[in-house]
Amino acid sequence: MIDISHLVKKYGSKYAVTDVSFHVGEGEVVGFLGPNGAGKSTTMNILTGYLSSTSGEAKVGGIDILENPDEAKKLIGFLPEQPPLYVDMTVDEYLNFVYDIKACKLNRVKHLEEIRKVTKIDDVKKRLIGNLSKGYRQRVGIAQALVGNPPVIIFDEPTVGLDPKQIIEIRNLIRALGKNHTVILSTHILSEVQSVCDRIIIINDGRIIADEKTENITEAVDQHRRYDVKVAGPQKDVLPALRAIPGVTSAELTGERELDSYVYRLETAQGTDVRKPLFYAMAEKNWPILGLESVGMNLEEVFVRITERADSQRGA
Ligand code: ADP
Ligand code: MG
Repeated sequence: MIDISHLVKKYGSKYAVTDVSFHVGEGEVVGFLGPNGAGKSTTMNILTGYLSSTSGEAKVGGIDILENPDEAKKLIGFLPEQPPLYVDMTVDEYLNFVYDIKACKLNRVKHLEEIRKVTKIDDVKKRLIGNLSKGYRQRVGIAQALVGNPPVIIFDEPTVGLDPKQIIEIRNLIRALGKNHTVILSTHILSEVQSVCDRIIIINDGRIIADEKTENITEAVDQHRRYDVKVAGPQKDVLPALRAIPGVTSAELTGERELDSYVYRLETAQGTDVRKPLFYAMAEKNWPILGLESVGMNLEEVFVRITERADSQRGA
C-alpha cells in the first residue's frame, strides 16, 4: 500500500532524511519511531505530498505522489504534527469545509456524522475550534483526516501534548481505525508503538535502523530487564544481598526512601527473571519487599539494544 524507496531530503547541505526505504502492506498498523529530529515528519510530509523530496520515490497504492499528487492524496488521510485547524470556525463548519476541499462524494450529512461519532466530537460540533481543549482539537484533526474515508491514515505524533486520559483515548481510536485502515503513526515514545502497532520502523538521524515486528523489538528490549525494588531493611545489608542474587548484574541505591525502606535499582542479566529469587532472598532475611517496578528504557537505550542485537545476528 505504501512504498518508499531511497528517499532523500536535504536542506542546504544538511540531510534531514539520508536514505529511507520501507514498505507497508494493506491493513498494517506501523509505528514510525525515532527521537526528535530523526526525520519522521520530513518522511511523512513527503509521503503525503506536503513536501517534495530531494530524490527517491514515494508511492501510495501504486501511485507516485510526485507524478500524480491529486490521485495519491485521495488515498491518504493525514494528521500533520501541527493540525491544520481554523480556530474561528465551528467544528461543523470546519468539517464541511474539509469535505468541500476534498471534493468528497459520500453523503455529506451521514458521512460527517459518522466521523464525529467515531472521533467522539459530536457534543462539540457547534463550538468554535479556538475554544476547544487540546484533546478535542486533536480529535478534530483526526476527524479531518477521516473525511473521504481514505484507506491509508498517517498520523504524525498524534498524542503529543495530551494528558494521560486523552492519550489512552486517542490510542484506542487509532487501534479501532487500524482494524480497517492501513495506518502509519509516528512517535518518539516506545510504549506508544508497542501498544498500538504490529510493526515498528525505527529511524535515527535520517536513517532506518530497524524494521521489525513489534514482538521482536519488545523481546530485544526486554532481554535486560531493570527494576526498582523497595525493601524495608538496613541498606548496608540489603545492598550486598541484592547483588548476591543470581541474575542481578548490579544493584544501586536510587536515593529514594520511605521511613526504613530504600529503593534500589537492579540491572539483570539477559534472559533471566530475578523476581522469584529476589522474593525468596529478601523473605529469608525478613526484609519485606514494599514495591517492585519494571523500569522502562529510553529510546537511546533501545537503539543500543536493537543495534547490538542486529550486529550479533549478522555475526552469527
Ligand atoms: P522529527 O519529525 O523526527 O522530529 P524532522 O523530520 O522534523 O524530525 O526533522 C529532521 C531534521 O531536519 C532535523 O534535524 C530538523 O532540524 C531538520 N529540518 C526539518 N525541517 C527543516 C527545514 N525546513 N529547514 C532546515 N532543516 C529542517
Ligand atoms: Mg516531527
